[in-house]
Amino acid sequence: MRSLVDRYGRVVRDLRISVTPRCNYKCFYCDPLGEGFNDPTGTVTVQEVAWVLEAGAGLGMNSVRFTGGEPLLRKELPEMIEHARRVVGIEDVALTTNASLLKRRLPELLEAGLNRVNISLDAIDPDAFKRATKGGTIRQVWQGIEAVAEAGLTPVKLNAVIVRGINDGEIIALARLTKHHPFHFRFIEYMHLNNADHNTYKEHFMPGREIRALIEESLGSLEPLETDPAAPARLFKIPGWQGAIGFINPVSEPFCGTCSRMRLTSDAKLRPCLLTDRELDLRPALQAADPVAAIQESFLIAAHRKVASGVTTPTQRPRTMVAIGG
Ligand code: SAM
Repeated sequence: MRSLVDRYGRVVRDLRISVTPRCNYKCFYCDPLGEGFNDPTGTVTVQEVAWVLEAGAGLGMNSVRFTGGEPLLRKELPEMIEHARRVVGIEDVALTTNASLLKRRLPELLEAGLNRVNISLDAIDPDAFKRATKGGTIRQVWQGIEAVAEAGLTPVKLNAVIVRGINDGEIIALARLTKHHPFHFRFIEYMHLNNADHNTYKEHFMPGREIRALIEESLGSLEPLETDPAAPARLFKIPGWQGAIGFINPVSEPFCGTCSRMRLTSDAKLRPCLLTDRELDLRPALQAADPVAAIQESFLIAAHRKVASGVTTPTQRPRTMVAIGG
């Protein structure tokens, strides 16, 4: 079988597909202008996603994650999951969501064959949550988290992007969730993917080591857990507690060397690296007589465009994460 190997020998196996640029939350780090990217014109169709999945699997990609925007705003998400499950070679079908609509939609997603869910949870106090998401309701999210745990999609992975001055006051309460719940709670460093100016970004950035120090100061020493060296999160636990606490430090400890990802944006661009803007328009391939073969050629070109290490220096970028798909 052909495989997708970049110029640095990294094998691309994980496909992230953004199924909509729309989101019902306006999180500071993702969409700082609160404007979203609300024009769904040109959003990938179910058929196009099916071709991309087939093409990717034919090149050895074996895991897919649906994201957005908020992927649960996309009505046809279960159909896309079903396609992914049917494609030979794809072993893992996951979702990243803010969980606000998850309780209601989970049964159809499970029926379609969803394997795993990652949930963004940036605060636990209702007012802090509302502020962080500009209007979100924690109760709905919590119901979604409970539904996933009850459905046995474990370990339930919860993620918070910590932004100084926005939700750093929630760090200890979020870490405490792992006392009585077997969650994996991962703290993610704020990346400069948005339109914040350089100084604003620097003021808000909080390194993972500072987050860890705060947790240890308040809750006690963290004991390292064995972690897959290729996985972005380093996992720990507080002895005796049920869950795990993780740190994903893409800025202070970049993990580009083990990157196995390729992204499809909701407007049909292949994005080889999250932190560089070298996108490849997939539209011509999607309109080709043999779309799967044409998409495979595009995948090969995009893999060749992957850089050794992402540009983490803040720059003005044309797209925020909500438009790229995290
Ligand atoms: N709406 C969904 C959600 O909330 O999980 C999926 C899309 S969101 C863009 C996917 C992930 O990107 C989330 O885990 C979010 O925390 C992360 N993310 C967005 N902007 C980020 C930034 N500037 N730095 C670090 N992570 C970011």
